[in-house]
Amino acid sequence: MNDPTIDERDVIIIGGGALGMTTATHVKRCSNYSVTVISKDVHTAYSECGIPAVLEGEVDDLDSLIIRTPAFFKESGIDVILDTEVRNIDLKNRTISTIQKKIGFKKLVIATGSVPNIPRQLRNSAALENVFTLKTLSDGGRIEHALEEASCVVIIGAGPIGVELAVAATRRGLDTTLISRSSSILSHHIDPEMADIVQEHLISMGIRVITGHCPTTINGNIRVRSVTIEEQEIPADVVLISTSASPETALARKAGIVIGQSGGIIVNDHLQVKVGETFDPEIFAGGDCTQVYDLITEQPLISHLAGTARRMASTIADNICNRPNTFGPILRPWICQVGNLLVGSVGLTEAETSRYKINIVTGSSRGQTRASYYPGTTPIFIKVLFQDRRLVGGQVIAGEGVKERIDALSFAIRTEADIEELLTLETCYTPSVSTVVDPLTHALKDARKQMEDAV
Ligand SMILES: Cc1cc2nc3c(=O)[nH]c(=O)nc-3n(C[C@H](O)[C@H](O)[C@H](O)COP(=O)(O)OP(=O)(O)OC[C@H]3O[C@@H](n4cnc5c(N)ncnc54)[C@H](O)[C@@H]3O)c2cc1C
Repeated sequence: MNDPTIDERDVIIIGGGALGMTTATHVKRCSNYSVTVISKDVHTAYSECGIPAVLEGEVDDLDSLIIRTPAFFKESGIDVILDTEVRNIDLKNRTISTIQKKIGFKKLVIATGSVPNIPRQLRNSAALENVFTLKTLSDGGRIEHALEEASCVVIIGAGPIGVELAVAATRRGLDTTLISRSSSILSHHIDPEMADIVQEHLISMGIRVITGHCPTTINGNIRVRSVTIEEQEIPADVVLISTSASPETALARKAGIVIGQSGGIIVNDHLQVKVGETFDPEIFAGGDCTQVYDLITEQPLISHLAGTARRMASTIADNICNRPNTFGPILRPWICQVGNLLVGSVGLTEAETSRYKINIVTGSSRGQTRASYYPGTTPIFIKVLFQDRRLVGGQVIAGEGVKERIDALSFAIRTEADIEELLTLETCYTPSVSTVVDPLTHALKDARKQMEDAV
């Protein structure tokens, strides 16, 4: 029997980020369901990805990152409840609870994203004033404010966000140090010899880069004063911790939803969650809180990419609207702006191939993005990885022309292209955008030579 004290909705979405808001919009387009999004964030429908660009001064202000306002969603018939945490999911009675109320659902989407991690040894000192992690628009505002008064900044963690923050700080004229625990920067995305190119670029911008070490303490009384690393004290009036992020699964775990070995919520290919031994047909999860699979290794992982969240949202919305759809393994094509360089990769790195004991042959090239005489040409560095003549990974660094090559390599990996097929690739040419023989072709030829030499 219906409880009159409980609001009833057709679809409830927990989380107002990329997955949550895209799912809400698509469901509203393909059905007459009542849709409510509940988010603990005070903002919604903004680009997290654009925050480093605001801190750098490339984009005017944080408000420009807001793509749609709550009023827009209201007009579209979507209720958006902000600044409200969902505390509980009751799977049996089909309700969720916030501190204020219980709401019933027919279909539920868990879109809780991820939370930044802080290394264990820094957890106590991370509470000091001017020590930040970056996840939300509000975090971006606090960091912006602190940087206005700062003269020296230490960034701990040299993944894509850490590197972008280092660029932002140095372009603001601040004394900037970037610290990587790994022996090379961007170590989950590119191989060390490619990372060296990016590191040199950062150094040329005036950034101090320390690799292979982790800070032992962040020092200060109320406000941060310095960071200690290898017995050296580096002055810092702002510290940005950008080491890693974990899927936000506390709510799902508490409800009895099964969590996978990557730490993300287990979903089937319809993106329905697992409860006990079965998948619940009315409860979905996607985005950064969810476990997905690598197309090549078939290993579980968390994507941490907006593109994955958007694609998962379409699948979930279709399934909610009774248009059965599936989501398969991924390749994680990725790109990042590092000062004047674009850095991209797709598929496996050498580190991953050795972790999974995959024998590979690599090819590489160094070329130009335009004809040598054409103004604006930049060096381009390409690396390709093959397993048994089949493409399994690619990395590209240049001032331009990176996205299109990474996207082409992504398609080639997905279609299981082998070296001979790739060498039949016809590439277009005009002096302002390429060389007559595309630099990618040189990398592929180098890989084939390595294969022939290995026979
Ligand atoms: C600084 C930065 C830069 C990035 N740059 C890029 C990039 O260039 N390219 C790229 O592909 N990706 C990038 N990403 C990653 C990308 O933003 C994420 O992969 C994407 O936002 C994931 O979407 P999501 O909906 O799963 O999670 P999120 O967008 O994080 O949304 C999660 C939502 O859940 C809410 N929530 C969590 N728990 C609860 C609860 N209990 N109750 C209510 N609400 C809750 C949160 O408040 C939030 O609204 C970047 C991320 C950051 C932080």
